[in-house]
Amino acid sequence: MSDHYISIVSEKTNPRDSQELAERIVSYLAEKKIIQKELSDCVLGSTGHKPAENFGSVLEKQYEGFLDSKVNGVEIITERRVFHNSGNGLEGVHCPNCGQNQIEEDWGNALDNWYEKLKSDLVKCSNCSSENSITKFNFEPNWGFGDFGLIFWNWGKFKSHFFTDLEKIIGMELKVVYGKL
Ligand SMILES: [Zn+2]
Repeated sequence: MSDHYISIVSEKTNPRDSQELAERIVSYLAEKKIIQKELSDCVLGSTGHKPAENFGSVLEKQYEGFLDSKVNGVEIITERRVFHNSGNGLEGVHCPNCGQNQIEEDWGNALDNWYEKLKSDLVKCSNCSSENSITKFNFEPNWGFGDFGLIFWNWGKFKSHFFTDLEKIIGMELKVVYGKL
């Protein structure tokens, strides 16, 4: 079975606040018994928080075999990351100004620059000539760019209020990115 994941990304978090936000969100989710406070081996290539007894309260539908799966944790990301659908089937990289698909143009360097925080992350649109950060382009399917996020592995379909609840805790708008390995 392939692994599904849902990333919840805050694109506007200041990197300095990531650690504190991580603690806040883990306390909240652990208090509601949605995840376990302790870290364990339950995500791919890192450690995460396993689901706790009330995990079902935030799900509309859980994946079959969710609790038996070895990969069913929540990973907390506190470093700069491109949150994507694992890169498969990227169809569009649309200019935020004119909307034209710039997927064939050279935007990879700008993305690397954003990630490395070194040089300019601006991309000039070949259609309208406006310059924007690569993080402002509209990726299809959705990608997210940020210094803070949560990745839920193989949980299923969330109730929509869960995202609004998390936004209240974090105090910022969140972007949801669906992925599959
Ligand atoms: Zn344009």
